[in-house]
Formats: sequence, structure tokens, C-alpha cells
Amino acid sequence: MIADSFGRVHDYLRISLTDNCNFRCFYCMPDEDYDFTPASRLMQPAEILSIAKTFMEQGVKKIRLTGGEPLVRKDAAEIILGLGKLPIELVITTNGTRIAEMLPVLLEAGIKTVNISLDTLQAEKFLLITRRDVFHQVRSNVELLLQHKISVKINMVVMKGLNDSEIKDFIDWTRHNPIQIRFIEFMPFAGNKWTSNKMFSLDEILKTVEQHFIVLPVKSAPNDTAKAFMIPGHEGSFAIISTMTAPFCSTCNRMRLTADGKLKNCLFSVGETDLLSAFRAGQDILPLIKASIWSKEKALGGQLGQNFENLDPQTLSNRSMITIGG
Ligand code: SAM
Ligand code: SF4
Repeated sequence: MIADSFGRVHDYLRISLTDNCNFRCFYCMPDEDYDFTPASRLMQPAEILSIAKTFMEQGVKKIRLTGGEPLVRKDAAEIILGLGKLPIELVITTNGTRIAEMLPVLLEAGIKTVNISLDTLQAEKFLLITRRDVFHQVRSNVELLLQHKISVKINMVVMKGLNDSEIKDFIDWTRHNPIQIRFIEFMPFAGNKWTSNKMFSLDEILKTVEQHFIVLPVKSAPNDTAKAFMIPGHEGSFAIISTMTAPFCSTCNRMRLTADGKLKNCLFSVGETDLLSAFRAGQDILPLIKASIWSKEKALGGQLGQNFENLDPQTLSNRSMITIGG
């Protein structure tokens, strides 16, 4: 069992496969030119599998593949199929561009849920946010997943003045589709242009939805990081991830492994533990894992308080989101 000093048992591992991406979402990538980590410094498929097994033997039940864009990695299929053989729940977060090519692999690996990031339902705005003109490709890949009975969650980062006006459109999408929209509060990371006045909070999101619909809360599962809601008559549902205004730290069960093999015990942790170098040197990584999680801060990596209005993101010590693995 992997636990921290506050008694939180950690049984969910998020593995970033790469810090490379075929999109350039401004809220995720740093401002300046960014060199992706060379392949030799990334965890290799056999290393990922072996490290994942160590976590699994300690009670990890769920692994999420993320990035960067996990499906741009050339050996993504090998990694997914390898992890798919483990007795864990395997899920993935992707920008959705490579779903059509990878569908046979996802099905063979037994992936039942895919989270797709889609911040707008307007093609021009999609181009503005991601700097890639592939809105229709992502949209049709969502349909493809639904046709194959893979459950779809849509991650939508809500940013004031940019896409908060589309909240109703996203909810309308759930009327006849069994998808869950996950509205995410915009979070600050190194070089991502975050300011508190661009943030659209849990309360604001909920009020916006309630202007148009009857909203009923849904009981959340013990380690959920999203507050879930349903709308009578809608096939789908929605949830809100309120890391900034109402964080979920007290029930956190997550650990994050960066693509270069560093363990982060929190999305906002200052420190990281180099598991890959230890693994390559033939050392036992279990004591390193346990020590890292034991040292986890009570909330938000000990860095963010509730008073985010005056937060200067430059004072945070962290990687950019794309190098952590969201
Ligand atoms: N490329 C994949 C994708 O876009 O889904 C996986 C990696 S991405 C870093 C994972 C998630 O983090 C995405 O849903 C993205 O919207 C979210 N994300 C990135 N930067 C964020 C930020 N500053 N605030 C909130 N969510 C963010
Ligand atoms: Fe790439 Fe996902 Fe980050 Fe967008 S949010 S730049 S798709 S990793």
C-alpha cells in the first residue's frame, strides 16, 4: 500500500508518455520556444511496464495515460497493449486527433473510457486555442468512440471571455449523447498566461448552467476530483473540476509520473523524485516511491492558497502542464 502522512491511500497513477504534442494550446504550453524531451530520456516501453507493475503490486488499481499528447508517441500502441494486459483499469486523456488510427489498439487493450480535450464547439475558436485546424477531425473521432461504445468524457477548460459563453452549447450536446462534459477551472502553470480574471469559477459555471436548465447533484465516488451533476431528460451529464476554488485534496489518491520518469506526488508539488535514473541504475524504486508519497503536502503542493485573486503564477515553482502530464 502507498499512503501519505495524512492517511490518504494512493491507488491511482497517471503516466505521461511524452511532453510532445501536435497541438499548441496556450494554456498548457510555456510561452517561450520549448524543446521536447529527446526520446532517449523518455521512459521506454519496457521501463514503463516494469515501473507500472511496481505500483500495481502496491495496490494501484487505475492507470491513466496522458502527456503531452500520449498518442503521438510512435510506440504508443506497444505501451498501451502492454499496460492493457495488467489487471488494472486503463484509461487515457487525449486531444482526440489520433483516435481513428488508434481505435483497434484502444479496443484490444480494453480501454472503456476516453477523456478528450475540447474547449470549444466552434472551428475558428478551436484554431485560435490549439493553433491547429482540426476541429472536425476531433469531433468525428468523438462520434467514432461512441459508435464503439467507449464512454467519452469531454474536458473543457473554461476561460472567461474566451469560451464561457459556450457552456450552454456544451450542455445542449449532452441532451441526446451519453457523454460527460467536465468543465475545468483554468489553472496556473509556468508560462501559461494565467490571470485570475481569466478564471471562470465553479460557482460561475454552475450559475450559468442553472440559468438554462434544472440541475441535480449526483453523489460522487470516494476519490472523485469532479463534482458531478445531471439534468433531467439529458442522456449525458456534466461535472466541474474546481481545483482553484474548491480543491479535492482531502481525498486525493493520485500520483503522477512524468515522461522522463520523475514522480510528482501532486500536480502542484515543488519536488519530484527521479524514479527512472534509479531504475536504470538497478536500484529498488519502491522506497523512493513510498518516501515521495509520504512527504506529500496536505493541499495543492503547499503552494496555492484559497486566495487565488492575488496569485502571481510566476511565483509558483512548477513545470508547465505539458511537461507534468495533466
Ligand atoms: N494532450 C492531452 C489532452 O489535451 O487531453 C493530454 C494532456 S493535457 C495536459 C491534459 C488535460 O489538462 C487537458 O484536458 C487539458 O485541457 C488540461 N489542462 C492543460 N492545461 C491546463 C490549465 N492550465 N488549466 C486547466 N486544465 C489544463
Ligand atoms: Fe497538447 Fe493537450 Fe496540452 Fe493541448 S492540452 S497542448 S493537446 S498536451
